[in-house]
Amino acid sequence: MLVGLLGLQGAFLDHIPHLKRCGVAYTIVRDREVLGRIDRLIIPGGESTVMSKFLLEFNMLQLLTQRIQDGMPVWGVCAGAILLAAQVDGRPGSVGVLPISVTRNAYGRQVASDTQPVDVPQLNLLNYPAIFIRAPRIDKVGAGVTTHAVRGQDPIFVQKDQLMATTFHPELNSDDCFHRYFIGL
Ligand code: GLN
Repeated sequence: MLVGLLGLQGAFLDHIPHLKRCGVAYTIVRDREVLGRIDRLIIPGGESTVMSKFLLEFNMLQLLTQRIQDGMPVWGVCAGAILLAAQVDGRPGSVGVLPISVTRNAYGRQVASDTQPVDVPQLNLLNYPAIFIRAPRIDKVGAGVTTHAVRGQDPIFVQKDQLMATTFHPELNSDDCFHRYFIGL
């Protein structure tokens, strides 16, 4: 199995130690050729506006959408979750394949970046220190979307079939549980 890390911009390198410990092969995805031959994809945190611009510029957006429609598992982290969302700040999202609505940078300045203890029953985690960095808020989840974890009332880890999104950054923690879960999808 070859895991792709979208490497156009953002925090993709932080995923590498996790994937190494999980014992899976990985590659950085920066063009259509590589995008066409990976088995699954992590879209990292970063700036969703910049990443969506590069996806268009490098002519990768349509192929990515096609591969997702054909069943490729994808995990969107923070900005990656924004790219996957069907609705972003009331407008259609860039990749737009996951039926959730998000508001970018919704937690305001003071709490834009913080660590919150959260429970994730699906992964047997209690008080997992979820790291939020200028995170989006998931305002609505559509049909078929399962919420695996919440912050207050807000979903922060959602999944629909082979697509998952976290508004926080598991790659910044030392354990590999989210990576293992994604690899198992
Ligand atoms: N605020 C960023 C955005 O809107 C996301 C931040 C992140 O990925 N840590 O794209």
